[in-house]
Amino acid sequence: MAVERRTSDDVLLSTALENFYNAAEEMGLKDDLIEILSRSERRICVSIPVEMDDGTVKVFDGYRVVHSSALGPGKGGIRFHPQVTLDETEALAFMMTWKCSLAGIPYGGGKGGVCCEPLELSLKEKERITRTFAARIEPFVGAWTDVPAPDINTGAREMVWFMDTISKIRGQLEPAIFTGKPVSLWGSKGRTAATGLGVATCALEFLRVIGRDPKETTAAVQGFGTVGSYTAKFLHEAGVKIVAICDITGTYYCKDGIDVEKAMAHAHSHPKRLLEGYSQAGLEKSKPNDILYLDVDVLLPCAMEGVLNKANADKVRAKYIVEGANGPLTPEADEILKSKGIPIVPDFLANSGGVIGSYFEWCQNLAGFFWTEEEYNARLVPIMKSNFQRVWEYSKEHNVEMRRAAFMVAIKRVADAVEMRGVFL
Ligand code: GLU
Repeated sequence: MAVERRTSDDVLLSTALENFYNAAEEMGLKDDLIEILSRSERRICVSIPVEMDDGTVKVFDGYRVVHSSALGPGKGGIRFHPQVTLDETEALAFMMTWKCSLAGIPYGGGKGGVCCEPLELSLKEKERITRTFAARIEPFVGAWTDVPAPDINTGAREMVWFMDTISKIRGQLEPAIFTGKPVSLWGSKGRTAATGLGVATCALEFLRVIGRDPKETTAAVQGFGTVGSYTAKFLHEAGVKIVAICDITGTYYCKDGIDVEKAMAHAHSHPKRLLEGYSQAGLEKSKPNDILYLDVDVLLPCAMEGVLNKANADKVRAKYIVEGANGPLTPEADEILKSKGIPIVPDFLANSGGVIGSYFEWCQNLAGFFWTEEEYNARLVPIMKSNFQRVWEYSKEHNVEMRRAAFMVAIKRVADAVEMRGVFL
């Protein structure tokens, strides 16, 4: 009897589940494994009461989900965003399981989030949210249980607050519980740029296998946070012409190519890390979403999920898509783009450089021995290349899209681990 499929009103969760079920059934995975892997091991909801700067108290909702710990401790970021819900967090944790599996690192999948609007918070308010959230999830995190990291709107600063709060509660330093920390406080040289380096490496590998010269290639990078900005930087360094970048303040297009270094410096010095006010010769500014429909070779959505959906996917004119964000395409968009013959390098392959880099940081924390940035990158790039190669070859061999191939490779490793470890008596 076929497994009864779980669904959700949340687009990301229903997308993740649908992709999983389709791949699992195509590979003939046993029903009991499908049942086990379609559910999360742990879903925690917490309230986060915070005294705001004006003296009032606001209560925020926070979540931490571990989808699977079959391969190792839960691993995945914590995001601060007004769209955060339990279902979205679960979807992201679910995808982390496949990402870590595909990456070949010893982790399961986890994810966390706080529903808040960071643009409206002062630094102190953000710190209080982070520390209270840390205290609430303290019983459930640990270097061998669940290891959070940065995600949308969180970074090295938040990771220090998390680490410090947990360390104070436990009365001992706990550096290996959080990755993405600053280099001066148990972080790794290379971690901040790691996701972008991985996305760019995957994009360049894709161009290589299809026989396309990066120097004859144009790209548009949607989102200019840590992932988007470093993706643009590394592609630009490889000779790709980045004709457009964007963030919530607009699309910034220049047919002769964006000066990526200058744009990064601009965003870095902006109080909210935005491109607002960026200028260079020949720059044209338009609405944020306009970037999605530009006539470029490669489109790299590097911001939020669901940006390409049934309402707009047919407007895409790019030849190839490399997903830097988690879940930027809905299944309908996936279908539309497939029918237009646009190949897609899937998110949990393309953006796995971040979590692979987190694995390096965790190893260094546990060993108390640090690597140089050269060592870090010299390990990251070959892993990204060989993971890309594995998915590419699998997709050719089995005549499936890269996303389906990546799911099948990833599910196999986790399913084998569940079988080997067994179910409790
Ligand atoms: N948030 C990143 C991701 O979605 C990194 C996760 C991690 O390093 O644990 O992959």
